[in-house]
Amino acid sequence: MSGEPQNDCLFCKIVEGHIPATIVRETDTTVAFRDINPQAPTHVLVIPRVHYPDAASLAAAEPTIAADILREAGEVAAEEKLESYRVVFNTGTGVGQTVFHAHAHVMGGRGMHWPPG
Ligand code: 5GP
Repeated sequence: MSGEPQNDCLFCKIVEGHIPATIVRETDTTVAFRDINPQAPTHVLVIPRVHYPDAASLAAAEPTIAADILREAGEVAAEEKLESYRVVFNTGTGVGQTVFHAHAHVMGGRGMHWPPG
């Protein structure tokens, strides 16, 4: 589906260092940085360095990198000392996806309701 950097992709630009971000963790395959508009005391985005438009297409093409995203979400939560946290992959405009480069939201530090609105 892709894998190559996209000129018009905001998160590819963050991966390449062309747009600044508050990076909290990096691995060979992933970058984790604070959301610019946090919705919880901890709100970190974990993204693959490679470009895929959503989590499912990433997992289909690069399953080990998809697993890296989940592992890194746990590492972020541990570093932030979160006992409870939520990992969200918005997929599609209907549920609020606005950036079409796969990303996990790692959110915690406050109570949350279920189901989400
Ligand atoms: P989505 O709505 O696609 O699931 O999540 C995209 C997230 O990216 C949003 O929570 C939004 O606040 C965040 N975001 C958008 N632009 C930037 C940016 O330039 N820098 C950072 N750090 N986060 C951004």
